Amino acid sequence: MTDYSSSQKKYQPRTMLTRLEEHASQIYTLELFRKVQAQIRREALHYVQSVIDDNINRVFMLDCYALEKGNAQVSCAKMVPQICCSCLHFETFGIPCGHLFHIAKVEGFTSIPNTLSYVNGRRGRKFHMSLM
Ligand SMILES: [Zn+2]
Repeated sequence: MTDYSSSQKKYQPRTMLTRLEEHASQIYTLELFRKVQAQIRREALHYVQSVIDDNINRVFMLDCYALEKGNAQVSCAKMVPQICCSCLHFETFGIPCGHLFHIAKVEGFTSIPNTLSYVNGRRGRKFHMSLM
């Protein structure tokens, strides 16, 4: 079964976050999309331990169900579409981490925020964060 074809641009979703996964299939190259799918699957390992809201940012303290190291802090700016994670996976590898996908699910994102679309992996389209 072919789940993604660069010629047909069709795929079968492999995660539960189908809207985010579909959006990822549109904005990343196939190589990066495979890595993004793996990160979307990893979001299920995480849970929100606590939330700090200071009216400017909402900071989620995440822990991990697995025994591996999985703690992280995800910060969402309230006035601008900006979200970042303390693990620096995005800054290092150019794709969102499982922590960010977990918060995207918690916050009801239906697409990957523009600020998390790595320029080198994109296909030249413009996207904006949207909420359900
Ligand atoms: Zn992270």
